[in-house]
Amino acid sequence: MSKPVVTLASGNAHKYEEFESMLGMPLHSLKDVPGCPDFVEDGDSFEANALIKARGLRDFIGGWALADDSGLAVDVLDGAPGIHSARFAGEHGNDAANNQLLLEKLEGAGDRTARFVCVLALCGPDGEEWVIRGECVGQIAHVASGEAGFGYDPLFHPEGHNKSFAELGADLKHKISHRSVALEKLLAHPDQPLARFL
Ligand code: IMP
Repeated sequence: MSKPVVTLASGNAHKYEEFESMLGMPLHSLKDVPGCPDFVEDGDSFEANALIKARGLRDFIGGWALADDSGLAVDVLDGAPGIHSARFAGEHGNDAANNQLLLEKLEGAGDRTARFVCVLALCGPDGEEWVIRGECVGQIAHVASGEAGFGYDPLFHPEGHNKSFAELGADLKHKISHRSVALEKLLAHPDQPLARFL
């Protein structure tokens, strides 16, 4: 019998390559699933939204599905922008406006602690489900710096570094990011949920 394959609930080529290389196994993506519907991410947590995507894809393909949901949670903002990270300032994916709004909200704040969060949901055809959270803690800077990465990277200084993710670059970021922490936890899970694919 041939090995099963996991399909990533994302059509984003950058994310697909990052996951494939970090997991060290071939994945399918939404590009391999013609006609796949959009899953409405109307959950109230990263966990809920990752599960909506993974369960929806699992049910559609009848096979293994992996989904992630990620964002930035700022302590003094009670976890905002959180699940609304991509559209904090209104328009989906407007990184400059999102970063500007974040700076405004933190004007005068003494505590600028924040964390990037990534939740992975892995769902199998026989009802198997794992939900794993990875976090990367840091500080929100007073000014944006650096050119690499995306989203809030120019404002986020990970703990132990006095530069932003956008200055530190992809190699370092991929070693310590919320996504890599979550993937490492999934790989090291005592149930060995990924062993069947390796
Ligand atoms: P998604 O889960 O990939 O859709 O990410 C949601 C949003 O969270 C993105 O649009 C970014 O604003 C933010 N975000 C998630 N991960 C990162 C990251 O690694 N760097 C910067 N911003 C991120």
